[in-house]
Order: sequence, then C-alpha cells, then structure tokens
Amino acid sequence: MNWMDTELELMADASLNRSLRASRSVSGYPGYTVRGEQVLLNMSSNDYLGLSQHPAILEVMREALLTEGAGSGASRLTTGNGLAYVRLEEALADWQNCEAALVFANGYMANSGVISTLVGRGDVVFSDQLNHASMVDGIVFSRAEHARYRHNDLEHLRKLLNNNRDKRRKLIVTDAIFSMDGDRAHLQELISLKHEYGAMLMVDEAHSGGLYGGRGEGLCHELGLQNDVDIHMGTFSKSFGVYGAYICGSRTLIRWLVNKARPLIYSTALPPSIIAGIAKALVLVKEENWRRERIHLATRLFRSLLCNSGFKIGAGDSPIVPLIVGDNETALRFSSALEEEGIAAVAIRPPTVPEGTARIRFSLSAVHTDKELTHAAVRTHNIGLQLGVLCP
Ligand SMILES: *Cc1c(COP(=O)(O)O)cnc(C)c1O
Repeated sequence: MNWMDTELELMADASLNRSLRASRSVSGYPGYTVRGEQVLLNMSSNDYLGLSQHPAILEVMREALLTEGAGSGASRLTTGNGLAYVRLEEALADWQNCEAALVFANGYMANSGVISTLVGRGDVVFSDQLNHASMVDGIVFSRAEHARYRHNDLEHLRKLLNNNRDKRRKLIVTDAIFSMDGDRAHLQELISLKHEYGAMLMVDEAHSGGLYGGRGEGLCHELGLQNDVDIHMGTFSKSFGVYGAYICGSRTLIRWLVNKARPLIYSTALPPSIIAGIAKALVLVKEENWRRERIHLATRLFRSLLCNSGFKIGAGDSPIVPLIVGDNETALRFSSALEEEGIAAVAIRPPTVPEGTARIRFSLSAVHTDKELTHAAVRTHNIGLQLGVLCP
C-alpha cells in the first residue's frame, strides 16, 4: 500500500490534500459554526434560507422520531414506504406543477441513479463542463457516451448535438445554478436545442430550489420554463436545511424510475424523521417569502461590497459568490486568514474546479445580517491586499 503515501505526498506538495476537520453547529444560530474553541461566521454552508434550525422542523422531526423510530428498516419497494412518503411526493408534484415526484436519499444518488437509468450504451449525454460530480458519475455509470460542452457554450453544444444525431437516446443535463460558480445555465436556449434535436432535458436545481420562483420552486419556474424541462431534480439538503432529494416529471418517468433506478431499489428508505422534516420544510419554503427576499438582499449587498473592493467575482445573482484567486496555495492561505478573522469560507481546489481557478467560495444565508456581511467583506478586502490578490 506504499503507493498511497507516495500519491498523497505528491498531492500535499501541490496544495491539493484534503482533510476532515471537525466542526459543530451552534444551537439557535444557524449562521455560525464552531471549530475547536473558535466561533466562526459560517459562509461555507448551503443553508441558504437558514431553515436548518427552524423550531417547527425540529419539532416534527422529534415527534416522528419518537412515534416511528430511528430508521425505516427497509427499502421503499418492500416495507420502508411510509404513508408520509406518499403524502410528501404528492405535495412535491403539486409544488413543482408536475404529474409526479419521487424522493431519493440524497442528491448524489438521485443524479447518478436517474441519469444511469435514462440512458445506456449507444446513447449520449450532453453535459456542461461545470456540472456537479454526481451527474458526471451518473454518465459514467450509464456507459453512455459523455459529450462534455464548454461551460454555457451553446455553439459547442450544438456542434456536439450535430455530431451525435445518429445516437439512440440523447439527454442534456445541467445545473440551473452552477454550484462552484454561482452563475446560471442558459435554460431557454437549452430548451430550444432540446426541441430541435429531440433530446431529453434534465435540470438540477440543488442551488436554485427554495431561492427562485414565487414559492421557491426553482429557476425553471422563475423563468416560466417548467413545462419544457423533462426531469426536474432538487435537493432537501441545501435551502430546505434537511436531507434528501427529489425528481419531478411525468407519471411515466416516475414509473420508470420506480422500476429501474438502482439507488431507489437497493437502498433503505430515509428515516421517518427526515421525511417529516422535509415535509415541514416544504411548507416553510413555499410560505416564508421573506427568507427569499432577505437572501437576495444579502446577496446584492455582499456582491457589491466585494466588487467595490476591486475583486473579480463570478457573474450572477445567486448567493454563491466565488472569489477566484487562481493557485491552490493562495486559496488555502486566504481561507486560513479568513478563519483567523472569525470567518469560515473554504478554499475550493481542483478537481472540484478546473486547474488554475482555485477559489474562496462564499455562500450566503438569509440569517446573515448586513453587519456580519459588511464585516466579512472588510476582512476579505484586507486579506486580499495582504496576499497580493488585490492591488493596492
Ligand atoms: C449538493 C449537490 C448535489 C448533491 O446533493 P446531496 O443531497 O448533497 O447529495 C447534487 N447536485 C448539485 C448541483 C449539488 O450542488
């Protein structure tokens, strides 16, 4: 097993090693995290709406735990399919204005399981270069051809579609909001291409669910495009503050997945307490519009503060604010310096992002105050100067 040490050494030399650090949350303060003895403003969580500690969610989870037990005991096709699952899926289909919905254990399993169930050998998947790893893995599992197009480059996609006209099934997959860049996919144009070339279209709303649309349905709804997307995917682990994921679409799609999707068939159903928590979070996501308004205000403030400081940040209007510093070591030093100032904002490095685009990925939450964000922006500015990321 010596090869592992050798490889790990090489990764460390390139500032690419990763390690698991313990942190814990602060009861009642979802915007903070504790590392060691230090309380940090948490700017690296995906708890965009600040729901992870909502008392109403905790209450229904506690109740489900006490009445129904810790685990579901079996997969959904055997005896793990509690009534709460059925009710939740009805509510999800209604919310997404789709015929049917299906809950998966998490986003990774939903993406990898669904893509590999929709296509196989002889098919082709067109995937944005910056799509989430769970989609990439789905393509690998499927054994379909992987046609990777340059980020948001529709001409490149068109060329690939042209080159693959003879393939049996065609699937275009994209993040709605890109997870490490915070910018949007060009959904309208993707829909046009999908129609033109007879492809299916799958959109991952992991970072747009809860944030866009009148009731938090996501970016497709915000743009009025929901009916042109064949497979809607979203998670309950980010804006919903809980855990799990969903697929919404036609009744036929859901029937197909129930019969074919291996992560659904061969894995234990989520615990009843999680399903209860998701159901309550869905109600809050739909109704508590002020959280959406607040996160968008917070985003505008923080983005403009960083821009005015002279930083080049990623385009877009999402609460994912990437500050690209380039090399891995600078990104790590930037992140450590922020931590010393009481701010948790992690460095994201390859292979999560392309080579040479290491970054600090700030992600904001509705529970962050203007004061906290201003403080964070000032500290970021100072560190940027110290590390030479910003010119004085
Ligand atoms: C987080 C994320 C996932 C995975 O969701 P989990 O529920 O955390 O497994 C999938 N797609 C995107 C775009 C994500 O950011």
